Amino acid sequence: MEDKVIVDGLTFVPYITSEEIRQQVERIAAELRKDLQGKRPHFLCVLNGAFIFAADLFREAGLNDASISFVRYASYSGLTSTGKVKQLIGLTEDIDGRDVVIIEDIVDTGLTATQMVNDLKKYNPNSIRFVTLLHKPESSKTGFKPDYVAFSIPSKFIIGYGLDLDGKVRNLKDIYVIKD
Ligand code: IMP
Repeated sequence: MEDKVIVDGLTFVPYITSEEIRQQVERIAAELRKDLQGKRPHFLCVLNGAFIFAADLFREAGLNDASISFVRYASYSGLTSTGKVKQLIGLTEDIDGRDVVIIEDIVDTGLTATQMVNDLKKYNPNSIRFVTLLHKPESSKTGFKPDYVAFSIPSKFIIGYGLDLDGKVRNLKDIYVIKD
């Protein structure tokens, strides 16, 4: 682990190690195995930020009948009362009757998460579970509660393990927080 990372003139310091991430991935994978026993779940990874977490969690879960695909939200220039208009794109899998597991990087205001669950309900899945690597409960504008949380953190900007600043530093193995 680096003792600091500088991106676009901002300094970030170590926050969560790859070993701590691995332990939480194992814990959530074990919970998913238990909760989805006998089912044929479909995992939905929300691009871009969740791709590394999703790859680790999907492998660790070891559910041979589970499928996975990738979706993203495209932002439009228009605004609603709750913020930018966002449209779910990339859902090609038929999730009718399936047990869906959403894998997200961060739940911040909870607006994206709330919209995603509502959007997916229209496709008539049997159940929807929401997994997030990070949750910033103090930023919530919606009261959205993820079902599985690897780390609950204060409302500070973080990078690494898939999370970017301006498209950079997603490759970092550990998670770093912006220096006060
Ligand atoms: P929200 O919950 O709708 O406000 O948005 C969550 C999204 O904001 C995440 O999926 C990230 O893409 C982005 N985000 C929020 N906080 C951070 C952060 O600390 N680092 C990087 N991206 C963030």
